[in-house]
Amino acid sequence: MKRKYRAKLGLTTLTIIVGIGLTPIANAKSIATPISRSRWPHAQVTYVIQASASERRVYQAAIRAWNATGQFKFVQGTTAHHQVTLGTSNATTGQYYRLAGITFSTGYPNGYYTKAQVYLLTRNFTRYHYSYSDQVHVAEHELGHTIGLEHSRDRHSVMLADNRYNGISSADSTAVRLRYRLPVGRL
Ligand SMILES: [Zn+2]
Repeated sequence: MKRKYRAKLGLTTLTIIVGIGLTPIANAKSIATPISRSRWPHAQVTYVIQASASERRVYQAAIRAWNATGQFKFVQGTTAHHQVTLGTSNATTGQYYRLAGITFSTGYPNGYYTKAQVYLLTRNFTRYHYSYSDQVHVAEHELGHTIGLEHSRDRHSVMLADNRYNGISSADSTAVRLRYRLPVGRL
């Protein structure tokens, strides 16, 4: 079994977007969101949330956003039967110092995922003044990892490595569709 480690860096390297009359370039070439070689057997997983009421709301909003893409479905499981565990951690030291969220995916190399564990690092949310919507964006990013997405260089992607402000883009949604049309092990 291979344990894959993914870290979400960049709490202190924030992009400040100030409204100075710049309009986004509508026809800017979009960058495809990279996919992992691994995937779940189906574009659907069961989950449980182990978190306080406020972080439960954050996870539920992120789940609604992914389910609304129509490309992947998170279905509530039970304590005994679930594939993904959505939790929180107060860790702020060592590898967690600069993280807002982290996902551990378990599976065989180039094979199917069997389990995933997500943590939102709530103490860092407080420390860096993450708003509710910032927190939802972090949860959407981590759920993107659990689905099988990798970090994107597209500054509009939810899979931007230090994402705080982006929701799920059409490129992100397209990448999920591709991931579940391709067999496991293929990119
Ligand atoms: Zn990440």
